[in-house]
Amino acid sequence: MVEAIKSGDKTVYPFIFPINYGAMTSINYFLYDDGKSLTLIDGGIQSIENEKYFFTMLQHHNLSIHDIDQIYLTHHHEDHIGVVNRVLSDKKVPIYAHHLALPRLYFEEQYLRNKKEFFQKIYTEYGCIHLAGNRFEKMEQTYRNREKLKLKADIIPLYDGDSIGGMTVIEVPGHSPDSIIFYNDATKWQFAGDLVLENTPTNALIDYDENLNLLPSVLQYENSLKKSLELPTTWIFPGHQNPFQNHKVEIEKKLQRLKRKESRIVETVEKGYQTTLEIAEALYHKRVEREFLFIMSEVIGYLDYAISKGKLEKTMRNGQWHFTKIEENEQ
Ligand SMILES: [Zn+2]
Repeated sequence: MVEAIKSGDKTVYPFIFPINYGAMTSINYFLYDDGKSLTLIDGGIQSIENEKYFFTMLQHHNLSIHDIDQIYLTHHHEDHIGVVNRVLSDKKVPIYAHHLALPRLYFEEQYLRNKKEFFQKIYTEYGCIHLAGNRFEKMEQTYRNREKLKLKADIIPLYDGDSIGGMTVIEVPGHSPDSIIFYNDATKWQFAGDLVLENTPTNALIDYDENLNLLPSVLQYENSLKKSLELPTTWIFPGHQNPFQNHKVEIEKKLQRLKRKESRIVETVEKGYQTTLEIAEALYHKRVEREFLFIMSEVIGYLDYAISKGKLEKTMRNGQWHFTKIEENEQ
């Protein structure tokens, strides 16, 4: 159990819910006490076990749901909003999240339709839709359950540079378009969501803009890591794994990993693998089917990144992207 962390009149109570979740061993959220009010930052996953854990930990710190004054969300992913509706059912508190999180957190019809359309288009163009399994059936399920799933509160939209409760809001897209850091200016704490996790792979996921175009998620992620790196920091409070202090070491490692992944993608294309699936299978073998979502996100994301860096180019043949290396002397 990670105990409370203090600085002056400010306290963080880490909720580190242990769970095997992909490559992660925990899903985290935090209660932050600034001496005047209590903020829940994220909410973990929605499950009976996590709800139990939430109440056990509240009790452990002599706190109750009724002490919570507001909720901040680092991004909209389902493993970050688990206990939010539970809190709201007892106490109506305001929720703050990035403005792009609102349609996602409200499970808006148009947003859900766009999501399905985007992934159908992208998986078709990248020649891997036959491996998508029940992904689209799950999206339909989410669509049908949208009334139940949506956050039942007024969400206040946040913008880059906003200041709330002694925290600066810093946009850090890449893991998701709506990812933000809540940076505490006084204590130099970063509530960083899933941007930087200790000892884990890079964490960029493909996503889309309002015109259903692929966002440059790896490039965004790289820039976001650099933003986080530059902030004077005493603690990073992440969405998974333990809170940590050596943020420079950890972020430098991530930036190096990102460059290594780019090199591996470019080398694979250079060897003659041309389609997304050929490239994915050359790099990940059998894992492609088992971890389809994550690996396709990686491969599509890094191919796109290498294109933006002028190392690869893509051409559409038979409705599918083919990749080739751009020779150095042609640049
Ligand atoms: Zn996430």
